[in-house]
Amino acid sequence: MTRATLNQLISCQDDYDPNSLPVLQARKLIRDYLQPIQRTEKLALKSALGRVLASDILSPHNVPSHDNSAMDGFALHSRDIGNASLTIVGTAYAGRPYTGTLQAGQCIRIMTGAVIPEGADTVIMQERTEVTGDTLSIVEQPKPQANVRYAGEDIGAGQAVFAPGRMLRAADLGLIASLGIGEVEVYRKLRVAFFSTGDELVSIGQTLQQGQIYDSNRYTLHGMLERLGVDVIDLGVVGDDPAQLEATLLHASTVADVVLTSGGVSVGEADFMKQILEKLGQVVFWKIAMKPGRPLAYGKVGNAHYFGLPGNPVAVMVTFYQFVREALLHLMGQTPLPSQPLFKAICVEPIRKLAGRTEFQRGILFADEDGHWQVRPTGNQGSGILRSMSEANCFIVLEDAVGNLPAGTEVQVQVLEGII
Ligand code: AMP
Ligand code: MG
Repeated sequence: MTRATLNQLISCQDDYDPNSLPVLQARKLIRDYLQPIQRTEKLALKSALGRVLASDILSPHNVPSHDNSAMDGFALHSRDIGNASLTIVGTAYAGRPYTGTLQAGQCIRIMTGAVIPEGADTVIMQERTEVTGDTLSIVEQPKPQANVRYAGEDIGAGQAVFAPGRMLRAADLGLIASLGIGEVEVYRKLRVAFFSTGDELVSIGQTLQQGQIYDSNRYTLHGMLERLGVDVIDLGVVGDDPAQLEATLLHASTVADVVLTSGGVSVGEADFMKQILEKLGQVVFWKIAMKPGRPLAYGKVGNAHYFGLPGNPVAVMVTFYQFVREALLHLMGQTPLPSQPLFKAICVEPIRKLAGRTEFQRGILFADEDGHWQVRPTGNQGSGILRSMSEANCFIVLEDAVGNLPAGTEVQVQVLEGII
């Protein structure tokens, strides 16, 4: 398959405006352009959590392998339903079957998960019976075939349980183990290199001089990347020096599949990244109609994908979650891409918002005393206030067309934390 170059892709977009690209269009451009990694490796099942499957997982046999009981009770044949009493002739435990064949008028005691013996097809719950010696009295008659789990009911032999593209979760590891499979083929880990730019930045451990700040973006990025399960390559802080920036960018592009930088992409005097990128590679878009997060650069340097994130600490996180995360998952081979669900909640405070751009305000989602979900913004929404991200448990997503909103308006929220 021949792939469109960046420039071909852009020329197809009639309304492409590099100075103000709508959020949805920017996402689509990235997705159309990125090609997932191809190389795979084999891993022990236990090491595969969070990795993306590269081949089908086919069930070698039926799950469960035998018809078995869903209850603690007594196994009987449905022909005997209606008899007031039956004779108990044995017991079947999980892992220790009853090997005989039931005759008319007979039953066995059976435990949950035990194999249904020959001559039985129904299980009656223990609670609906009375036992005297080896006689079972039936208090309430069962329905034919009640409480039986059938062989292959969960998964049939030869059935594909997972397709390539599945990012493995804890339940998946268990399901694959239940098939007796101990090794899986997954895509190799994505390598992501990043560095911070700015003459004002110093690393932890050094004393701050006037006008200097500690580099926090590298820690945020490290955390977000590690959470995604990529190989993280931290290239440190680079000052606002074109030669050094260029050298670091080139080096990064040879050791990683993806390069991320923070800072230096606005239009300030010392913001050299755009010029360097135009020289070294290709730039697709530069400013997105969003807040925080404008500007955001995407392009290529050599074979590596490049994302130039803004310098402001909140903007780094918002652009990462809204663009980079999905792009990385796509490159890691995940299909289909997980959709970020949006929920509606009543905002209990007024919201200040400019129409014409998408805003991702930080919010705190809470349930009122009736259990209805409500949200309030975290206060100061400045893109340098990282505490707003720490306090928030959701983004309040305000579409382009929306302007100022009074208290009590229904808004869309995107929850930051999932259960899995
Ligand atoms: P820039 O995009 O380089 O103009 O940076 C925008 C703002 O973000 C400035 O106030 C920078 O000092 C700040 N900033 C840039 N990089 C970092 C960083 N790595 N850690 C914390 N703040 C940063
Ligand atoms: Mg800077």
